[in-house]
Amino acid sequence: MPDSITDLEARLSQAATPVERIDTLNALAWAVLRKDASRANALSAEALRLSKEGTFASAPYQKGVIEGQRTQASLQMYNAQYDQALTLAFEALALSDEIGKPEFKPAILNVIASCYHLLGDVSQSMDYFLKQEKVGEEVGDRLEAAKAMLGLGVVYFDMDDYPNLRLCSERSLAIFEELGQDYWIGLALNNLLYALFKLGYHEEALQRANQAQELCRRTGNIRGLGNVLNSLAEGYLNMNKPVEALSCLHEALLQAKKVNDPNLEIEALTLIGQTYLQSNQYEQALAPLQQAVTQAEKYKLWRNLYESHRFLAEAYKQLGDYPQALAHYETYHVTKETSFNEENARKIQNLEVLHRTQVARKEADYFARLYQRTQEFNTQLEAEVQKRTEDLRKAYEQLERLDRTKSDFITVTAHELRTPLTVLTGYAQILLPDPELQRDPKKKDLADGIVTGAKRLSEVIDTMLLMVKVDSRALEITSEPIDLSKIIAGIANELNAAIKDRRQTLEIGREIRSLPTVEGDKTALAIVFSKIIENAIKYTPDGGHIGIKGCTWETSPQPDLPEKAVEIIVSDTGIGIDLKAQELIFTKFYRTGNALQHSSSKTKFKGGGTGLGLAIARGIIEAHQGKLWVESEGHDEQHYPGSHFHIVIPLKQRFPDPA
Ligand code: ADP
Repeated sequence: MPDSITDLEARLSQAATPVERIDTLNALAWAVLRKDASRANALSAEALRLSKEGTFASAPYQKGVIEGQRTQASLQMYNAQYDQALTLAFEALALSDEIGKPEFKPAILNVIASCYHLLGDVSQSMDYFLKQEKVGEEVGDRLEAAKAMLGLGVVYFDMDDYPNLRLCSERSLAIFEELGQDYWIGLALNNLLYALFKLGYHEEALQRANQAQELCRRTGNIRGLGNVLNSLAEGYLNMNKPVEALSCLHEALLQAKKVNDPNLEIEALTLIGQTYLQSNQYEQALAPLQQAVTQAEKYKLWRNLYESHRFLAEAYKQLGDYPQALAHYETYHVTKETSFNEENARKIQNLEVLHRTQVARKEADYFARLYQRTQEFNTQLEAEVQKRTEDLRKAYEQLERLDRTKSDFITVTAHELRTPLTVLTGYAQILLPDPELQRDPKKKDLADGIVTGAKRLSEVIDTMLLMVKVDSRALEITSEPIDLSKIIAGIANELNAAIKDRRQTLEIGREIRSLPTVEGDKTALAIVFSKIIENAIKYTPDGGHIGIKGCTWETSPQPDLPEKAVEIIVSDTGIGIDLKAQELIFTKFYRTGNALQHSSSKTKFKGGGTGLGLAIARGIIEAHQGKLWVESEGHDEQHYPGSHFHIVIPLKQRFPDPA
């Protein structure tokens, strides 16, 4: 049951929050709509203003806007401003969709349907009443669904389709009765009894009329009562019962005067005149018809006016007063023509409005569809991006897990290998000095082979463990001043035999000796240089050349390099490195060519390796806050373009603040 006007007024004066105030303003405006249009206008205008101001300046209070617009649309409709009414109503409808509040829609659809009805567009009107009914049912608002049925009935009434008027009235009546909506029961009953009379179901019509009268009297609905009495009188007239008709009409007249309703009054007066005419009481017909003419002229009710003139002409003719009869007959024609002209002008105007609104509707529909499509597209895109991100996250996690497993495996295996290896080296060491063995060159070679193999295996294990440390960023770097020339010279010395073996030349630039010391970890940096120089030997053919140069700077030559640093460049005249592989070679286990085809030697041409050397080297250099990269024109095993490995190490280590 909706709140009464007094309740709403009380609530308005106590409204504590802006939302409460706006909601109550709108509810009150809607409640007084039929009684006091100007008050409804003021109230809804204020609700609309408040919904877009203050707290709601940047984000309007949508419910407030929708309800305010709905009331304003109804008011515009009552003022025959169908254009504005439809614009407002469609806006409110779109907004309800946008914020996903279908419960606001039925009342708005009712305004739209009624506007189209008043504009004479039967099909649109029916369409919107049906929409109102459907949405009303969907959102569980049965009152709105019943109102839609009632509205649809009125459209059928205008089409003189009484069977359908009856159906709609009965259906809506049942719901109004169920909900105890007296005002609406009255309206539905009135429509129903009218249809029943027209269809010739007089008994039933009379029964319904009694029911309606009783209800209107009980609820004090005077206007409703007047309407029922007029309809009833018309029914009696059809049944040729002038006495009963007159009694109803006189009472209708009384009620009309009470509420000062010219429509009711003029209708009753015209019907009184018609009833007297029908019962051949021509004298008596004159006065009410004259009164009807005066009132109808005043209120510009054209149909009643020309009908009354026609009845007057008929009465005078019957009374033998031909000049009067002729005069009224002429006025009847003139008035009817004026009325038709006006009606036509209005219809043309309505058609224009309809055309405009239909064009506007089509555009609005188009944009709404476009908006919906964009929304759908965005949602789809978002879902896709989310799914991809999720897939990537999972794949990444899986890789991380795999990597961890591999690292764990390497660590465990390396440690497990170390114990038997130590035993093996120990035994070999005991065997070697044995005089018997020393005397037998064959056996000595075998023992030497065991020692070299064990040493190589030990190195591989060290490399693997180092890689795991680099990977898990667990590399512990000590920091002491280091003379890089000494490290390089030491490695050159160690590799001298291999270089000779390969008939290569190694040239260390003189400037290396005068380079400043750098801060760092001697053992770790020695690993870097030996890996890179070993590679240079390995990937350069027999007879090739390896050169080591160095320089130092105060300010970095390019933005991604450290200030104050030393740069060592190890160049070779080897097979070179493909442009695409120049970053990949620094990732672990990356090796060019077929891993199984390599021979397993540190320095043999294209000898085998673990594919870990450069990854470890880069890890160590980065732990020193330096940079390691390669430059090469490409891989070519015929022309040997060679490679240049750049190793940049800052002079001083900067440690992050403990904070
Ligand atoms: P590996 O144990 O295979 O030598 P590295 O990590 O030391 O592993 O090197 C990775 C790959 O980089 C090598 O397999 C090789 O293809 C390439 N590479 C390294 N140094 C050179 C070089 N001086 N000339 C040509 N290719 C090189």
